[in-house]
Amino acid sequence: MLGETTDDDSNNEPNPTQTAAGELADAIRTTLGPNGLDKMVVGENGTVIVTNDGSKIIEWMDITHPVGRLVEQAAAAQDNTVGDGTTTAVVLVGALLEEAATLRSAGLHPTTIIDGYGRAVEAALDQLAQYERGLHSRQDDRLTQIAKTAVTGRWDDASTDRFAELTLSALQAIGFDRSRLTLKSYPGGELRESVCLDGVLVDLETSSTSLNALSHPRTRTHDEPAIAMVDAEIGIEEPNNVESVELQDATQRNAFQAHEQDRRTELVEQVVQSGVTVLLCQKSIDEAVRTALAQQGVLPVERTRRDEFDVIARATGSTPVMSVDDLTADDTGTVGSVTQRTVGTAQTLVLQGCPEEHRATLLLRGGTPHVAEEVRRIVADCIDVTRVALDDGVFVPGGGAVPTALAMDLAALSREIPDRTQLVFDGFGTALEALPRTLATNAGTDPLTTLTGIKQRHDAGAETVGVGPDGHPRDMIDAGILEPAAVFRSALQRAVAVVTQILRVDDVVRTSTNERTAGGEHDHAHAATGGYPWAVGH
Ligand code: ADP
Ligand code: MG
Repeated sequence: MLGETTDDDSNNEPNPTQTAAGELADAIRTTLGPNGLDKMVVGENGTVIVTNDGSKIIEWMDITHPVGRLVEQAAAAQDNTVGDGTTTAVVLVGALLEEAATLRSAGLHPTTIIDGYGRAVEAALDQLAQYERGLHSRQDDRLTQIAKTAVTGRWDDASTDRFAELTLSALQAIGFDRSRLTLKSYPGGELRESVCLDGVLVDLETSSTSLNALSHPRTRTHDEPAIAMVDAEIGIEEPNNVESVELQDATQRNAFQAHEQDRRTELVEQVVQSGVTVLLCQKSIDEAVRTALAQQGVLPVERTRRDEFDVIARATGSTPVMSVDDLTADDTGTVGSVTQRTVGTAQTLVLQGCPEEHRATLLLRGGTPHVAEEVRRIVADCIDVTRVALDDGVFVPGGGAVPTALAMDLAALSREIPDRTQLVFDGFGTALEALPRTLATNAGTDPLTTLTGIKQRHDAGAETVGVGPDGHPRDMIDAGILEPAAVFRSALQRAVAVVTQILRVDDVVRTSTNERTAGGEHDHAHAATGGYPWAVGH
């Protein structure tokens, strides 16, 4: 195809290192895009996970081949830094290696290919700037479209759209300060029951508050409650350094019990007199005190998780005290309302409308623990991709529009290159086209027809045309299929970096093998031959 031959045939052997990377790319190629298929990953202990999230599939695959590990690490780095585009990166690795193999068959030395890929990626990144568009503001609707694109195909369209919208409304509510957003997912219920709450949700099951006290009818909802927070145990203090108290007779026992009772009454009175309606304790609350408080219309919550305790203190403006004896009305804070709410089998407390620190909670539901967890990941991905888009401030049309445009740009540039690097540029362009081709294939259309159609539209000036969800050419901006520019940029850079590593390692291994067989007599100053080092002198 490249019209160049050499008498060196050693490069036609199956190449184990490239094969490992290629197999990984083959394995996950079918998951790319909105029509990507799910993969079922079966773990060693028989656990089964069904997903089409490329990064998860690679993470869960048991990759042992060192080259496969390199690709896996690149994918993990892509996921960690930009949260998306892992499949894209791996498909690119596979395609770049395939093109490298073709170039080698045509007699190009790996070093020539590595250098050429290096120049091509630089040129591609330069060209990329012209396809980038700026986000106008944090309220830009296109942020929602970017979040939707990032998670299409992960669940049904209606649900993923809704998760993206929920995520954006939550982020907008808290001024995009991620630290003020809590994600809570609960199995049971339906996906569409997921909501964004204006405030904090505390899990009472983990804080193990007695449900008896909570189910008291008067403790259901408290509007504008006075919230007190106690950072220590509430109950009868045990005398220090006393192992046991021996009570001699019934009178003594009665006196002791009366003392305990007085102390309990004192504690409850102190709380009630401070006007408290919700009492959050970081440790346990004596059961009798809890019951008495509930009877007085105070909602007692014990064992509030440390992190949640601190968040609530900030959000409500209450000042935690070390003992109920220190409690005054000044120490209390408030919110719009506190509601006890059952979510699935979990008992929760929702503090809505926090005046001191605006907070939001995404309360996510899914039929099973697996679904609830997947929903959580989808929302987390929406959050990440939004952050990446905002940090960078630019987005590009998705659906393979950009790689197609870049392939066309590289083809134009390669015509100006006088040496063999021209072939490498063309190979690089062909590798980029693997993305629109794969999207078309996965959507069930003919990749060549689709790609040709897209290129014609680009030639006519519509450079934002890519592969639509139905596999046919479509304007991506009109369709709202948008991605942070950083996702593609990073996928491309990582793919080239790992391919370079693989080609380089391969070069070393093959060179040394050949030296051994040929007795190390080779002349390595072989640039003029343009062939392999081990081809020289044969
Ligand atoms: P990755 O792991 O690389 O993010 P995905 O399976 O998420 O892989 O697929 C991403 C590709 O799918 C991107 O090229 C993106 O533009 C494209 N894509 C996402 N949503 C759509 C859509 N609705 N129509 C067409 N292409 C889409
Ligand atoms: Mg994706």
